[in-house]
Amino acid sequence: NFLAVAAHELKTPLTLIDGYVSMLIDIILKQNQTSLLTYTNGILSGSKRLRNIIEDMIDISLLENNLLHLNYQPFWLNRILEYVLLEASATSKEREIEIKVEEFDGLFSINYGDSARLIQLFKNLITNAIKFTPDGGRIIIRGKKLTGFIDVQIVDNGIGIDPDDQNAIFEKFNRLGNIALHSSSKTKFKGGGPGLGLPIARGIAEAHGGSIWVESPGYSEIDFPGSTFHVLIPVLEKLPQRSDL
Ligand code: ADP
Repeated sequence: NFLAVAAHELKTPLTLIDGYVSMLIDIILKQNQTSLLTYTNGILSGSKRLRNIIEDMIDISLLENNLLHLNYQPFWLNRILEYVLLEASATSKEREIEIKVEEFDGLFSINYGDSARLIQLFKNLITNAIKFTPDGGRIIIRGKKLTGFIDVQIVDNGIGIDPDDQNAIFEKFNRLGNIALHSSSKTKFKGGGPGLGLPIARGIAEAHGGSIWVESPGYSEIDFPGSTFHVLIPVLEKLPQRSDL
C-alpha cells in the first residue's frame, strides 16, 4: 500500500510543481526578469531533493518486501565507476577532494549484473565518502579479485565511524552524531540525509548475491581516521537465466 501511495500520490504533486515552475521560468525569461531565476531554481532543487527521498523510500520498501527485481546485463566496473565519478566531479572539485581509482584485477573485465542498481550503490557510497571527508581530503577506490568475487573498496580519510556504530549505519533511518547540527545538503561536509543510502546499497549488494561492510578505526573530527567500505560483487561467467536467480 505504501508503495502504491508513494509512487503515485507523493510524486504527482511534485510533477505539478515542476510543471508550473517551468511555465514561470518561461514568463520570467520572456519578461527579461532573470534575477527571479534564483527563486525558481530554489524551488526546482527542493522538488528534486524531495523526489530523490521519495524514490529512496520506494526502494527501501521494494527491498524489504523482496520486490527488487534485477535487470541483469553485461557491465564493466571501470565504466560504472567512471559514470559515478563524472556525476560527483562538480562536488568533489568544489570541496577540493581528490578521488583516485587504482587499477585492480577485474576492473576492466566483463561481468553481469544490474548496471543501474550498481551505479546507485556506488553513487551512495561515493557521495557519503565525499560528505564525511573534510575539504581537501582524498578518496581512493581500489579492489581485489577473490575466488568468485571482486572486493571493491572505497577508502576515505574522513571522520571515520565508531566500531559500535558500524552495523547500525546499515539500518534504515540511522544517522550518527547530532542530526540537528547537520546541514541539509547531499554534498556539504557532514550534510544530512534521511539515512537510506547505506540500507539501499546493502540491499542492492545482497540482491546480487554479494555483501557490504565497513572498516574504520573509529570516529574523530581531529585525527580523521577515515573509513573503508567494502562491496563484494560476485563474478559471473555469463548472463544468469531466470531459473538461476
Ligand atoms: P545519509 O547519508 O542519508 O545520512 P546513509 O545511510 O547513507 O544515510 O548513511 C548513514 C550514516 O552513516 C550517515 O549519516 C553517517 O553518519 C554514516 N556514514 C556513512 N558513510 C560514512 C563515511 N564514509 N564516513 C563516516 N560516516 C559515514
